[in-house]
Formats: sequence, C-alpha cells, structure tokens
Amino acid sequence: MIRFFNTLSGRVEDFVPLRPGEVSLYTCGPTVYSPQHIGNMRAYVFEDLLKRFLIFSGFRVRHVMNITDVDDKTIQGAHAEGVSLQDYTRKYIDAFFADLEALNIRPADHYPRATDHIPEMVAIIKGLLEKGLAYRKDGSIYYSIAKFPAYGRLSKIRADDLRPGQRVEADEYEKESVRDFALWKAPKPGEPVWETELGPGRPGWHIECSAMSAKYLGPTFDIHCGGVDNIFPHHENEIAQSEAYWGRPFVRTWLHCQHLVRDGEKMAKSKGNITTISQLVAAGVDKLTIRYLLLSTHYRKTLNFTPETLSQARAARERLLDFVLALEGIPPRRPAAPGLSDHLAEARRGFTEALGDDLNIAEALAALFEFIRKINTLTAAEALGADDARRILDFLGELDTVLGVLPSKKEDLLPEEVQKKIAAREEARRAGDFRRADEIRAELLRAGIKLEDTKDGVRWKRVTKDGPAP
Ligand code: AMP
Ligand code: ZN
Repeated sequence: MIRFFNTLSGRVEDFVPLRPGEVSLYTCGPTVYSPQHIGNMRAYVFEDLLKRFLIFSGFRVRHVMNITDVDDKTIQGAHAEGVSLQDYTRKYIDAFFADLEALNIRPADHYPRATDHIPEMVAIIKGLLEKGLAYRKDGSIYYSIAKFPAYGRLSKIRADDLRPGQRVEADEYEKESVRDFALWKAPKPGEPVWETELGPGRPGWHIECSAMSAKYLGPTFDIHCGGVDNIFPHHENEIAQSEAYWGRPFVRTWLHCQHLVRDGEKMAKSKGNITTISQLVAAGVDKLTIRYLLLSTHYRKTLNFTPETLSQARAARERLLDFVLALEGIPPRRPAAPGLSDHLAEARRGFTEALGDDLNIAEALAALFEFIRKINTLTAAEALGADDARRILDFLGELDTVLGVLPSKKEDLLPEEVQKKIAAREEARRAGDFRRADEIRAELLRAGIKLEDTKDGVRWKRVTKDGPAP
C-alpha cells in the first residue's frame, strides 16, 4: 500500500486511485516570464519522482502540466520588452523544455497552454455567474468567496479571516489579503485582450488550471501537485472555482513540496537569488548531479542549496556510479556469490517500502547504499561472479527507472574529474607532449582506470585487483 501526506486532510493517507490501476495527475507548470530556477525545478523533480514511483508500482499515469503563458507577470515582461506576449513567452517555453530534458524528467502526456484554452475558461466563468458565485465589477468578474462555504479548507484559512465583498485584482497575494479574486480582468491599455461572450478581457491566473485540468483529466482526478507557495491562493481558488462549477469534488490528494532555499530565503526571481540549470552546467556541474541534489531531500523538507549540499550530492552520486563501474569490471571466471538473492530482495523491499511511505527518498537511498556496502564487501572478498554483477546491474537499472540518476552513456559513469583528466591527456597528445600524456595515464591507472589507444580513439576500462575487466 502506498501512502501520501494529503495537504487537504493534513494526514498521511492510503492512496486509492479513482480507477484501479490508473492515476490522473495534474502538476502546476511554469509561468513562462523568465528562465526556470532550480527552486522551480525542485518542484518538477519531486513530481517526476512521484510519477516514476507510481509507474514503478504498476500504475498507468496520465500526467498533465500546464504552461502559464498569460498572467500578470508574462504581460508585464512582454510590455517591458516591447514584444508580443507570444514572442516573449516562446523563448522561456523552449528553455523550460530544455531544462526538463537536462534533468531527465519524463515528459507529461499534455502540456496545455493557457492561451489555447480561453473558451474553456469562459465557459466556467459563465457558469459561475449563472450560479451566482461570481459577479461583475467595472468590467472584471470576481469570485464571491463567501458563497463557497468550503473556502479555506486547503490552506486552513479561518472563516473570520474572510472579507466578503473586498476584492483583489492581482494574481498573487498573501493570506492576509484573502478576498474575492479576479476570474476575468477588464481590458487595460497595453494588455492582450480576448473578445469573448463575457465581454473583452483576459483570464486571471487561477481559472487557467481549473479549465485545463478538467479538459484533460475530468472534473475529479487523483493527484494535484505544486510547491507550498501554490497552496494559497492558487490551489484554494482552483478548488473554489472547480467544485462550485462542476458540483463535484475536485482533487482527491494534494501533494506540495517545500521550498528550495538559499541563505534561509526561498529561491524566487523576485528575491533576486536565483540559479538556473544552465548556470550550473556552465560552471561544470553534471546535470544528473543537479537532479540528485533536487531529488534526495524528502519533498516535505526544505532543501538548502549551498556549495556543501551540492558537493554532497556529487559525492553520493559518484559512489553510485563507481559501484556500477566496479560491477562492470568483475572478471567472468568467478562463481556466483551465496546470499545474493537475499540481499537483492532486502534492498528492493527497503527501497519500495520507503518510497511507498509518503515518498521517503532519504530512507530509500539509505536502503540502496546499505546494499552497495554489502556488495562492496563481497567484491572486496572476491566473492562476486560476473553473473551476479549482471543481476545487480539489472536491479540498479530497475531502481533507476525511479531515480533517473544513472547516465545513459558508459563514459558518463566516470567521475567528472576522471573525464577531465582523459580530455587533458588527449590535449597533451595532440600537442605532442607525450611525457605529460603518459603521466596522466599512469595517474589514472593508479586510480583504477586503464586507458587504451585504439584506432577508434581512446578507450578505458575499470581495472580491479585481479586484473582488467572482461
Ligand atoms: P511558477 O513559475 O512561479 O508558477 O512556479 C512553478 C512551480 O515551481 C510551482 O509549483 C511553484 O510552487 C514551484 N516553486 C517556485 N519556487 C520554488 C522554490 N523556491 N522551491 C520549490 N518550488 C518552487
Ligand atoms: Zn496551477
């Protein structure tokens, strides 16, 4: 049984999807007004872990992630640059997809864009007007939160905090200013305008997700995710809009990840403390090390981004890669090790049970590293055969369908330092400095990497105590 902490109930609950064997998942996507920072990416990596674990556990997952390409921030950005909204958001949409790929995040089934779903939003707003839950004011349309008794259930706002009839125009606001929020915004000079049945204007941010989730997943679906900053007002407002319009429960399980912080402060563009994937990659950090960092802290704990946490992630991942490399180097002549099946079963159980317990990644990784420790003991005692190594590698491949941190190319199993040394040796050879090239080669051999120059270029092998790899 899989269990998740549901923000709505405030408890860890057994997860039972609406339809057996299938999970419908909606995750709030990027607002494409700037490059995504690693705080945003933390949310997407957590959602990817969730999805991969559900697939690993045998579910079919239908995943929708929206792209917010019209809201206060995108409009301001386009205006400041003097370009159309579409031209402005396009480059950030492209960059977003490049970041997803860099971090080995599995694609969603749909990436609906808000600007392609205006009619769906208009239909809901019309319905809310007809039901008396929304009202017009100065060309805009607002949601009357006092008419929706369950307002505040997700974010635990108290009924006496509500200020009926007071309005807020901005897409984003704090709990202190809980008010009637804008579903549809009256035209303003310099802003994009849609001519619709409601009159001219443009949507508020919150209605976008209510419309797009229902279109692709239906009015009720299993899991909705985002960062904790989405709980209020965004997700609270989504519930109010969707449940009032459809007359049905909206989402069964809400999962929210804590923030990535730097120097104790949430990473956010508005705070001026952001780091992007491309900046880290340009500084020489492996993309999958970034993934490991974002993945390896439990999603409900704050993740501190510091040089130390980054190098801890690098070290942990390199331990894993080194383990794979060593297994690749087991000579074929050795007999099978007794007890391997038990070790494999224990590691599988530890890993699966931990993730099934509200995605406890720290314990899942602990089970994996405990397994590595045991196998390393066997390897050191020369008690592991090549067939054993194959079985272990297959097992790791299976776990990595969840973790997604192993490289697809064998070369990338080598630690960054070693890859750099191989490149430096090539450089020295090209420059005719064979003494330097030989020095590097000897250095690498001492570190267990044997280089061979073939007509197809340089090859390397991991060498173990009892000789080279097969
Ligand atoms: P946005 O583009 O601001 O709408 O954010 C996209 C996603 O990133 C949302 O799910 C946010 O909750 C999440 N997010 C934004 N900043 C952070 C952060 N510092 N740490 C974790 N998640 C974040
Ligand atoms: Zn959303």
